Parts: sequence; structure tokens; C-alpha cells
Amino acid sequence: MPLKLPPDATGIITVDLDALQANWRALAERVAPAECAAVVKADAYGLGAAEVIPALELAGCRTFFVATPEEARGARLLAPKARVFALDGLFPGAAPLLVAADVAPVLASLAEVREWASEARHLSRRLPAALQIDSGLNRLGLALDEIKTLVNEPNLLDALDLRLVMSHLACADDPAHPHNAKQRTAFNRRRALLPALPASLAASDGLMLGSAFHYDLVRPGYALYGGQAFRSEPTPVSPVVTVKARVLQVRTLRAGDSVGYSATWQATRPTRLAIVAAGYADGFARALSGASGRKGGVVTIGGQKAPVVGRVSMDLITVDITDVPGEVHRGDLATLIGPGLTIEAMGRTAGTIGYEVLTRLGTRFVRRHTGGGAC
Ligand SMILES: *Cc1c(COP(=O)(O)O)cnc(C)c1O
Repeated sequence: MPLKLPPDATGIITVDLDALQANWRALAERVAPAECAAVVKADAYGLGAAEVIPALELAGCRTFFVATPEEARGARLLAPKARVFALDGLFPGAAPLLVAADVAPVLASLAEVREWASEARHLSRRLPAALQIDSGLNRLGLALDEIKTLVNEPNLLDALDLRLVMSHLACADDPAHPHNAKQRTAFNRRRALLPALPASLAASDGLMLGSAFHYDLVRPGYALYGGQAFRSEPTPVSPVVTVKARVLQVRTLRAGDSVGYSATWQATRPTRLAIVAAGYADGFARALSGASGRKGGVVTIGGQKAPVVGRVSMDLITVDITDVPGEVHRGDLATLIGPGLTIEAMGRTAGTIGYEVLTRLGTRFVRRHTGGGAC
């Protein structure tokens, strides 16, 4: 499909919703009979919850996880029939908001359990919730002593309609890491203290650790968006995102000329340079700057890889296209993320991870969602 960039746009982020749906189905098949939910926090990892949630629902997804109450409200409107869980739990005073949106908080401390139970008693009905228990990540989750207190206060549990007990893995990207088995054991011991509930431990990488980690429900986010974080074998998903930006100008340098702020890169030969309308304000990290003696990011122009040289600035990058065969013109598109340019590779070069690459994609590029209809 030829890509038409509107004349006022600097670049375009294309989200392939057909690929997204295929990814969800592939993961759902892999973990069956466990349920495959979808994590759509942070605007579906920056790709647009408004398009991603309905597409996933059409693919068959029935359970969504967001982080915040605001995201939960949005998800509820987009998927009126789905289950929506808020991973950040219950903020003080936010119970009426969550009740109104029919959202289940993932309660992660005794204080949150008490506040949700008190809202339930106030409304004279049991309120839906998930319980997060800590199994060794030491982020959110009830500690062992809190679990023991909770089971000794049956009036608290009676006020809640608990739908799920969950925990989160610290080292799931590395199947050889001993922490995985330790957390699984801790999860089993701790949830055994509670009434029997559907359980969930795995996100994108955890589901690759095998069926012992699937329990009743898995919660992938990154893998749905084409992310590959599991270290020992590919996750059965395909890329979803392509990012392209406009070439504004092509210029010629002489040997010895320098490029960009602080003149960090000098041409060692006659050089052709493309100036591309993408900068750190668009999510092209400043850490992708190239300098003499230090490789930076890579883009493709005319299907050929070409290195970023000089500093990445707020709105612009400079690309050495000397070795790109054929002409490059003003108005051509450079690919920043796409075939041969994975979010993981970009993350590595920038000293971060693909997750951060996705969630930092800026708002100046136009976004186009393709496909995503009924499956
Ligand atoms: C973000 C998050 C997920 C999804 O993780 P991915 O690695 O993106 O699959 C699942 N569970 C919890 C608690 C999370 O915070």
C-alpha cells in the first residue's frame, strides 16, 4: 500500500492492526486453555488505545489491563462489554470513579483493600477487584504479612468480589534465571493462603516460559505490539509499527566539514547528507546521535541503511547518504522503524529497551491505523 504523507506532516507512524490481531491470536493459541488478556496501558504502549482496544476486542480479547483510572475510563468506553482492570490499583479517594466506570482495581496493599471494601459496604454490594500479591519483584503487591492479616479479617474479603489473584515476574526475559522458579513457588504458597481464585503470573516473556507459568490468564502487552524481549527464542509475533519521516533537504559536504550542534562529527570524504524531519521531540532519542568515532542510530532511505551522523536535535536528524545508491530527494521518506530496523535494535543503540522506544514516539507525526476489522 503506497504511503501518502499529508503535505503538512513531518512523519507518519503506521500501526498495522491486522498484525496486532494476528499477534493476539497467536499468543492466545499458545497459552490455551488459559485466557489471553491484553495490556493496553500508556495509550496501548503509545500506539493508540482508541484503535487498539476495539481491534483486540474484535479479535476475541475479553479482558484488558490499563495502569491508571483515567486510562480505565477510556478503556471502559472503548470496550463496554470487556473486563477492565487497573494495574495501579486504587488511588485514595478514587473509588467512586472506578465504580462509575465499572473498573476493577488491582489491589496491591491492605490500605487499598480496606478502602475498596469500605466503598463496597457503603454501596451495600460486593465490588469487583483483583489482588496483586508480591512474589519477589518488590514493586506493587501485598507482602506475606499483609496476606495473613487479610485472611484473618473475613469481613474484608466478604465485601469484595475477587476475580483474579496475580503477581508479576522480575526476570522472565531470561528463562535460565533462577528467580523465575522462586517467584512461581512464592506465588503458589502465598495464593494458597487465600480463597481459591483464578490466577495470573505471566506477561509477554512469562508466557514464553511454558505452561507452568500460564495459570488461568496471561497478560501480554509488549508482544502484542510486535515486541521481542524473550532471550532464548522468538516470540511468535510480527512487527506492528512502522515510522517514517520526511527528507527536508539534501546537502553536500566537503571533507573536513562538521555536522550539527557541538560539531561532533566531521566528514572524512565528500559526503551527501539528508536532513530528516525527526528529532528527540518525536521519540528519536538524542542518545542515537552519531559522532566521529562513535556509531549512532541507523535509518533506511531508498531501502538502504544509512547512519545518523552528528547530534540528534529536537526536530531534525542528519543522515549520511553518501553510500545510498540512486538519488535522494526532498520529500522522500526515511524509515526510522520498519523492516530491518526493529524497536529492539533502536533501543539497544539508544541505551534503552524497545518498550521505551514505543511509548516515547512523539505526537507530531501523523498516526495511521490500517486493518483491524472483524476477524
Ligand atoms: C506492564 C505490565 C504487564 C505487561 O508487560 P509486557 O512485558 O509488556 O507484556 C503485565 N503485568 C503488569 C503488572 C504490568 O505492569
